[in-house]
Amino acid sequence: MGIVDELIGVNERGEIISKDWVEWEHFMIPNKPKWLRDILRNSIALKGHCLTCTSVDGCYFVRSNMPEQALHPHCDCKTKTISYGIVQKNAKATSGIEKFRDYVFAPKHYGKGKVALFKSWGYTIDDSEALRREYAEQALIAYKSGQYKLKKLDEHGQQLAIPVSLKGKVFYSGWMLCPEGEIVLTTPFGGWIK
Ligand SMILES: [Zn+2]
Repeated sequence: MGIVDELIGVNERGEIISKDWVEWEHFMIPNKPKWLRDILRNSIALKGHCLTCTSVDGCYFVRSNMPEQALHPHCDCKTKTISYGIVQKNAKATSGIEKFRDYVFAPKHYGKGKVALFKSWGYTIDDSEALRREYAEQALIAYKSGQYKLKKLDEHGQQLAIPVSLKGKVFYSGWMLCPEGEIVLTTPFGGWIK
């Protein structure tokens, strides 16, 4: 194994990817459990520690695609290099069926606005589970390949836009980045890729 093998790899789609990943670190904040993490984030916020910074503590980024440190003057954030094996082992995509069943296919949204596409592609509420699984599968490969776009970063965390392909059309879906490589679907259709 040379240095190149350690830093460059090939994903499930045969694309070249970077294996150079980091974990965002802010002192005092555990990656889990969430309740303890929230208590500590809120309590150190009272001492002036920025909630935006602590929201990304424990999050994994490919080094070439991460928010710029420092986020503000006197920022305490650091990065820790992590092995790609950790990313492979821990990364997971959570896409809730409700994003499809109760949103895309809800009678008041179905065939309307941004999600009208799903109807035009012939999907119905019966496809909710299959779509949920398809999104999770595609987004996980893309995220682990560093194929995400950094969107809004605030006290709730770092939002990502991740390409998803359905019926031969590629578009962005919206995800929230959580500690230890978890991504959670927020928006099934986030816009066309320009
Ligand atoms: Zn910071």
